[in-house]
Amino acid sequence: MIIVACVLYAMLIYATTQMTARYNAFVKYNEEHIACHEAAAQMNAASDYLTEQVRLFTQNMDIHHMELYFQEADIDRRREKAIAILKQYEPTDEELQALEAARGSSIDLMEREIYAMKLIVVANGYDEAQIPEDVRKVQLLHYDKQLSSQQQIARARDLVYNRGYMDAKALIKAHGDHFVDSLMRHTAQRQRSSMEALDESLLRQRILISLLFIMNIVTFLVITMLIVKPLSVYMQCIRDKMRLETTGAYEFKYFAMTYNDIYELNEANKAMLMHKATHDPLTGIMNRGAFENLKDLLQKSPQPMALLLVDIDHFKSVNDTYGHEMGDRVLQKVGHLLQGSFRSGDYPVRFGGDEFLVILNDFDEVNRSTIKRKLELITRQLEGTADGLPQVTLSVGVAFSKQGYSDTLFNQADKALYVVKEAGRNGVKFYDELQEK
Ligand code: GH3
Ligand code: MG
Repeated sequence: MIIVACVLYAMLIYATTQMTARYNAFVKYNEEHIACHEAAAQMNAASDYLTEQVRLFTQNMDIHHMELYFQEADIDRRREKAIAILKQYEPTDEELQALEAARGSSIDLMEREIYAMKLIVVANGYDEAQIPEDVRKVQLLHYDKQLSSQQQIARARDLVYNRGYMDAKALIKAHGDHFVDSLMRHTAQRQRSSMEALDESLLRQRILISLLFIMNIVTFLVITMLIVKPLSVYMQCIRDKMRLETTGAYEFKYFAMTYNDIYELNEANKAMLMHKATHDPLTGIMNRGAFENLKDLLQKSPQPMALLLVDIDHFKSVNDTYGHEMGDRVLQKVGHLLQGSFRSGDYPVRFGGDEFLVILNDFDEVNRSTIKRKLELITRQLEGTADGLPQVTLSVGVAFSKQGYSDTLFNQADKALYVVKEAGRNGVKFYDELQEK
C-alpha cells in the first residue's frame, strides 16, 4: 500500500508539473492572441493616420501635417513595430507572403503620398530647407512641372483621393487583414489545443486525487481492521488475564501466538508453584498452611460440616522398627486413602507429623454412619500388608458444626481424638456422643 501510495504521489507531482507547464503555455497563447489583436489594430491605425495626414496636408497645405506624416513614417513607425511583433508568432510561409505583399503595396502607396506632398510643396513654393529629405529628393515628372500651382494642388489631391489610391489602400488592407486573420486563427488554434491539454491534465489530476482519497480510506480501514481492532482486543484480553485471540495482521497473530505460549508456560508455572505452596510434598494432599487460609473461607460458609482429626497410632515405633523411609510410605498411604475415600469437595489435610484432618463440607451429622463406614474401610486397608507396608491403626476424633468452621469445632474433634487415644487407640469417637465433654 505504501508503494502504491508513493507511485500515486509521484504521478500526482508529475501531473501537477505538467499542468503548470500547460497552464503557462495557455497563458502565453492567450497573451499572444491579445498581442496579435492589438498589433493588427495598431497596423491599421498607423496606415489610416498616414492617409489622414497626407490628405490634410493636400487640403490645408499646413507643413505641420507633413511633419506629423514623417513623424509617424520615420520615427513612430507603428506599422513596422506591429509587423515585427506579429512576425514573432511564427507565421506560416503563406502568411508571410501576404505580409510582404501588403508591405510592398504600402511602400508604393507611400511613394504616391510623398509625390503628392512634393506637388503641394512646389505649388506653394515652400522653402526647401524646411522640407523633409524624402520629399526634397522627389523629382516631379516633366508633365507635372509644366502645370500651374492650382493644377499641381488639384493633381496632388487627386493622387490621394482617386480610385487608384483607394484601391491600393484596400489591397494593402486586404493583404494585412489576410495575414492578421490567418495568424489570429493560428494562435487561436494553439490556444484551443493548449486549453484541451490543460483540461486533460486537470482530469488526470482529479482522477489521481480521487485515487489517493480512496487509498486513504482503504488505508484507514486496513489499519483499523488489522491494527487498531486487534490491539483493543489484546488490551481487553490482557486486562481480563486471558489468552490472546489470534486476530489481525500476520505480525499480530504471530505476536498473539508467542504471547499465548508464554502465557501458558506462566500459568503452568503459577499452578505448579501454587500446588507446591499449598500441598504437602510427601503425601500430595493439602498442607497446614493452605488449611489456615481455607479456614477463613470455611468460617463464612453457611453449610453444616464435619471435622475429622486423624492420628496414626504408635507411629513413632513404625519409624523405629522399619525405618524412617518406611514411615514415609505409611504416611503416603494414609494420605492417599483419606483423599480417595471422601468426596472431591471435601478437604483432606496433612496437619503435621502423623496427624491428618478431613473437612467434610456440607455434611449433616445424621449421616455419621457414612463416616464410620468409610473409616472402617480405611482401617481394613491399613491392616493389609500386600503392599509390603507394616500394619497401622488410626485414632479419629469427629465433631460436627451446624454452620461453617470454627476453632471450637477443631477443639471438639481434638477432645474426641484424645478420648480415643485414652481408650486404647484404633477407633473413632464423635464429640457429641462423649459422656464427659
Ligand atoms: P500416638 O499413638 O500417641 O500417637 O503415638 P505416636 O508414636 O504416633 O506418637 P506421636 O503421634 O507423638 O508421634 C509422631 C511421630 O511421627 C514422631 C515423628 O518421629 C514421626 N514423624 C513426624 N513426621 C514424620 C515424617 O514426615 N516422616 C516420618 N517417617 N515420621 C514422621
Ligand atoms: Mg501418632
